[in-house]
Amino acid sequence: MICMPRRVRFLYIIMCVVATMSAAAKDFTVVLDPGHGGRDYGAVGALTNEKTINLDVGLELRKLLNQHDGLKVVMTREDDRFIELRERAAIANRNHGDLFVSIHVNSVDKKNRNRQNVRGASVYALGLHRSASNFEVAKRENSVIELEADHSASYQGFNPNSTESYIIFELSQNKHLDQSISFAEMAQGELVSTAGRADRGVLQAGFWVLHASAMPAVLVELDFICNPTVEKYLHSQKGKKEMARALANAICQYAGLGGNKSSASAGDDNHDATESESDDSEASETSAAEADCPDSLTYRVQFIASDRQLPSTSFKGVERVEYYRHGGMYKYTSGGDFRTEAEAEQHAKKVRAKFPEAFIIKWQNGARVL
Ligand SMILES: [Zn+2]
Repeated sequence: MICMPRRVRFLYIIMCVVATMSAAAKDFTVVLDPGHGGRDYGAVGALTNEKTINLDVGLELRKLLNQHDGLKVVMTREDDRFIELRERAAIANRNHGDLFVSIHVNSVDKKNRNRQNVRGASVYALGLHRSASNFEVAKRENSVIELEADHSASYQGFNPNSTESYIIFELSQNKHLDQSISFAEMAQGELVSTAGRADRGVLQAGFWVLHASAMPAVLVELDFICNPTVEKYLHSQKGKKEMARALANAICQYAGLGGNKSSASAGDDNHDATESESDDSEASETSAAEADCPDSLTYRVQFIASDRQLPSTSFKGVERVEYYRHGGMYKYTSGGDFRTEAEAEQHAKKVRAKFPEAFIIKWQNGARVL
């Protein structure tokens, strides 16, 4: 800088000021990753295919997000092309994303008898699958690797079909897991309320692309293309717009920008999702917003946890059942809030007649206190 001519020095100072200003007004960067593309069609239906739905929803989502100042949108692909899985994560990392959202469409095997009826959205965070069906989804999405040349070397021997390969995902429980789950819950809630999808919940499984992204990251399975009624919705302009709106609301909420919910609402006649796994559940969800006594510490009796919402028949005879969601799990409590631990313990004794594992948790500001 000492040797710079005066004019160059002036320009240099201006550039430094501009750089500092733009760093101060840092955008929230969201990386949208429409899954599959090019020779990789993803799941295929009768009317359309997964790569097309993923891209259309991704592009619509970008359009909605671009209306917000302070949000920067990066796409891993904006047209029908094949992108390697590791390149998708690399794009996210190069752009220093604050959030990575991989968009996919679900399907089950042709041999599955429930193929035409299965329905619902689920949002996945990275983790070790707890059920065989979660493993199937991860296997299917990871198998894209096999279409890449020399994949064994590029992915350090990771084999999408081998159970052992998935251990890396458990060991690398990344530091962004809490944030990933928190966004997953927002996205899942929006896909149900704004896009009318049946609720299959927030789940965890070993997706390579989430593992390789150094930021909070989720993989969205919008719904099932193998169900003909659902496929019509996924293929329709209305469906694509609603699903994009749902994800835009969740991203804005997560980025602290406030979603624009005016242009879409649930309960539309054309929604095909009329039943959900949770319809027969009488348990009500507790959230921070519903907490009637926001500051005081109370005690609750927790008696069961599950990675999916349970029907009310699972806890017949248990009083006042509510659930909260944590770590991708549904956790059920009974009896509401107790002011003292002793009162909660008295109630816990009754619950233990049916659920011997029932225990007391501390509750404050609409969440469990650890
Ligand atoms: Zn997919």
